[in-house]
Amino acid sequence: MSTKPRREPSLPDLSRYGRLAEYRAKRRFDVTPEPPPRLARAVKTAATASPKLEFVVQKHRAGHLHYDFRLEHEGVMLSWAVPKGPAPDPAVKRLAMQTEPHPMDYNQFEGVIPEGEYGGGTVMIWDRGTWTPESSDVGRALAKGDLKFRLDGRKLKGSWVLVRTHGRQWLLIKHRDAHASSEDLTATKPRSVVSRRTLAAIARAAGASPRQLEQAAAADVPRDAAAPAATQHRAR
Ligand code: MN
Repeated sequence: MSTKPRREPSLPDLSRYGRLAEYRAKRRFDVTPEPPPRLARAVKTAATASPKLEFVVQKHRAGHLHYDFRLEHEGVMLSWAVPKGPAPDPAVKRLAMQTEPHPMDYNQFEGVIPEGEYGGGTVMIWDRGTWTPESSDVGRALAKGDLKFRLDGRKLKGSWVLVRTHGRQWLLIKHRDAHASSEDLTATKPRSVVSRRTLAAIARAAGASPRQLEQAAAADVPRDAAAPAATQHRAR
């Protein structure tokens, strides 16, 4: 993490993109419909009129299905890829791989990243809302690898924690509170919170390839229902 970036003379100067440099370097914005990097102008502080911080969870069928969990911090969306999606059960620890910070414009993105591009596949806005740090100094909590927070989304609510295990690997865990439950929200609430669409409907509308459309449709079927014993009884 503290290693100096290697000089790559063929790459354009990324310095002005700051914390979005990695986001920019991984994508071709003349090909992907994802938003180009743009740092939010104002960093929100306690003094800001509306100090609400945004969070979003995007269901993303790329190489593998995962849920991108993003928290606004200092003008960007800090991001973790959660393969199994967030679980409101405090007994369940979900692996969350930290990925590159995304621009705040990304919170509006629902569509299809073309085949062959970075993260190629269908993206759904699975949940969104606001978050409140429960750690007094977010920067320090992130550096320590122990960030406590509250979520006020349509699906995810209450107190949670992200704990770093090593490197970019973290665990996302629900705290015990009134919003803890054993419900599998990825199965019971599978649709987009902005368009009410399934992943397959998003893929179809955005002109996905036949392969992407098939993968999106398969990702709409809950994991348990997709088990061999249940394949004849797929949800209609
Ligand atoms: Mn992703």
